[in-house]
Amino acid sequence: MGADNRIEMRYSYRRGFSWLLLFTVLALVPLGIALVGPIPAARSFWIELGVALGFIALAIFGLQFLFSGRFHWIAPTFGMDNIIHFHRKMGIIAFFFILAHPIILILADTEFLLYFDPRVNLLRAIALSYVSVALIGITVTSIWRMAFKLSYEKWRLLHGFLSLSIVFVGVVHSIQVSHYMDPLWKKIALAALMGACMYLVLHTRLVRPWLNRKKPYRVTKVNDERDECWTLTLKPESGRKMAFKPGQFAWITVNESPFSLQQHPFSFASSARAETISFTAKESGDFTSTFKEIPVGAKVYLEGPFGSFTPEPDSHLFLVMGGIGITPGMSMLRTMRDDKDPRKAILLYASKKWKDVTFREELTEISKEIDLRIIHVIEDVPDEEELPEDVDGEGGRIDEEMLAKYLPEHPEKYMYFICGPGPLMDVVEIGLNNLGIDWRRIYSERFEIV
Ligand SMILES: Cc1cc2nc3c(=O)[nH]c(=O)nc-3n(C[C@H](O)[C@H](O)[C@H](O)COP(=O)(O)OP(=O)(O)OC[C@H]3O[C@@H](n4cnc5c(N)ncnc54)[C@H](O)[C@@H]3O)c2cc1C
Repeated sequence: MGADNRIEMRYSYRRGFSWLLLFTVLALVPLGIALVGPIPAARSFWIELGVALGFIALAIFGLQFLFSGRFHWIAPTFGMDNIIHFHRKMGIIAFFFILAHPIILILADTEFLLYFDPRVNLLRAIALSYVSVALIGITVTSIWRMAFKLSYEKWRLLHGFLSLSIVFVGVVHSIQVSHYMDPLWKKIALAALMGACMYLVLHTRLVRPWLNRKKPYRVTKVNDERDECWTLTLKPESGRKMAFKPGQFAWITVNESPFSLQQHPFSFASSARAETISFTAKESGDFTSTFKEIPVGAKVYLEGPFGSFTPEPDSHLFLVMGGIGITPGMSMLRTMRDDKDPRKAILLYASKKWKDVTFREELTEISKEIDLRIIHVIEDVPDEEELPEDVDGEGGRIDEEMLAKYLPEHPEKYMYFICGPGPLMDVVEIGLNNLGIDWRRIYSERFEIV
């Protein structure tokens, strides 16, 4: 099988369509449960629509746990980037569906306002009012987390708590209203289905860390790279290293406990063949600023590997990376060096200043061992810091014209990997596509996820 076919197999319209179809079918399951068997006589179109939207929204909320739960059988199919985009879009759709549920019902029949009346049923009124506030809270804090100055860890805790409580109230509400849920088996089926979705969150947050507690790593080295970047080298205590593909990432916890909220994703920077694992972080916030202070011997827990930002064995590599976005590229190139891989690789590596280019000496060394062409793209090129004569380089920023200049002779034989600051990635994704590169060959890994 040729490289073309394999690449199309990973990202294809057919595969995307199948998953979308599966998602749609699953999103309709609670509604299906409600409609199965003898059901009460139909009311007005608007009332039935309002009710249907409520069931669908509940299902979408449940599916959010499935798609964002870092499950190996889902994550590699799409890549982290796409899953997060999908999670966000679906969250917004579920928000509007849930909101539309009471609004349509109340507009169709004001009697439904009684659901919020504490004099009729205090507990129900509190629960439904809570869900309305929680729903606005979860949406607003997800879209404007930075504006609220919420740390990522606190936001994640709040996000998990709000979503679990919204689904819980939703299930109790459907069972309690009971209009379509009358036979007991329907109540049990809905509760079991949504309970399974909620368990996925507990699995990710509690069960998986618990299983992981027996597989700690120890820090063996902390290296100062340039430009406020630090490399942690880890050795598995058990002697069995996590197997990963170059380009993938893991969630890391530096702590005595695998349950810590401080769990962060980092791309593997080391060769997939090395005995140790290394991650390189650029100081950007409270966790990454402590990298340099992590003592040798500290315990580290890894969860992974994740991601589909990985080359196929028989395609050449065109890498466009900027700043700390070089880490997955380092893993790919280090692995190619260790494998004595005959494939071609082209690296366009964007940095602010030449003096800050992380790993530049090692990259030059690797280029002597494999068929690697490196083009350093330096944004500020002051006179006294011009590139050495033997270094291929450009000044300024990467744009479509520059991509066209370095595009290989047979672009269809390459896979394109982009990782770096958001604006660079946007320009390169669009630029490559404008230059005729099929989107199925273009892979992106975004480090800024919220
Ligand atoms: C797939 C992937 C691979 C990554 N690989 C690397 C790498 O090799 N080297 C590197 O320096 N950085 C990498 N990052 C980014 C790294 O995860 C964040 O820089 C780090 O989590 C920031 O944490 P902080 O507390 O230092 O900064 P903060 O100021 O707390 O956060 C800065 C930003 O980082 C993101 N972030 C923070 N905490 C988390 C978290 N727990 N989970 C997810 N995102 C978070 C948020 O977008 C936040 O706005 C990667 C990110 C992803 C998604």
